[in-house]
Amino acid sequence: MTQQIYINGEYFSKEDAKISVYDHGLLYGDGIFEGMRIYGGKVFRLREHLLRLWESAAAISLPIPLDLDHLTADVNEAVRKNGLEEGYIRLIVTRGAGALGLDPFRCSNPQVIIIVDKITLYPAELYENGLELVTASTIRNHPAALSPRIKSLNYLNNVLAKMEGLKAGCKEALMLNHQGMVAECTGDNVFIVKANKLITPPKEAGILEGITRNAVLELAKKAGIETAEEPLTRHDLYVADECFLTGSAAEVIPVVILDGRSIGDGTPGPITKQLNDAFRALVRQ
Ligand code: PMP
Repeated sequence: MTQQIYINGEYFSKEDAKISVYDHGLLYGDGIFEGMRIYGGKVFRLREHLLRLWESAAAISLPIPLDLDHLTADVNEAVRKNGLEEGYIRLIVTRGAGALGLDPFRCSNPQVIIIVDKITLYPAELYENGLELVTASTIRNHPAALSPRIKSLNYLNNVLAKMEGLKAGCKEALMLNHQGMVAECTGDNVFIVKANKLITPPKEAGILEGITRNAVLELAKKAGIETAEEPLTRHDLYVADECFLTGSAAEVIPVVILDGRSIGDGTPGPITKQLNDAFRALVRQ
């Protein structure tokens, strides 16, 4: 089946899916997005993703030109039209075309875009053996400048941190917040296990509250694992028994080295494996 890209209710081939160069999404990163997974032809936690999209929109005063039910139906239709049983969805809402000035109120046509595609973020081998991370010197955006809770089209902060990771030979990088506490990675949330307790930084640490993060917290609670959303330092990660990342694209991936230090015994730990298995079962439900 050939790929069909949705723009404002119409479908285009990849070559013909175009928007204006005056769109403030391009000119200023003025817009928001979601990244979702398709498992067995169904969108995983679509409602949660759309509620987060609406929160991002509210935070930047961006009117989404369709209601929640309508967009839900359109996302499901885009999945059907692209015929992918397993895949990834990038849903974008831009501010729309305006003048060559910042003023968002002169943009009157927000663009709603749905791209359905395949994704492989990390090589399969890393899910078995674990990832190596470095801490980026680029910190997460100060929440008073641009809240990390908004999934905005301004990802340059994360792109710069990702670049630092890649230049150091790592596929992901850890980002601290403006207070020097652990926030998250460039596109994933971070967890540790210490003395059988599962810990992840709280929302206030300047993170995007991941849908996968929340699913993993629920699964851990169901399995009787003690969980906490607590501030973490880099030291806590160095001395953790286990560490892993979560994200719609990444799913659950173990971390075995941070800044050249082995975490635990340097291999993916048992609670990481247990939660990864539980997550795999959940998405197959
Ligand atoms: N943090 C950041 C910065 C992200 O971009 C993402 C999404 N790729 C996540 C965390 C994970 O969120 P989710 O589980 O909702 O995909």
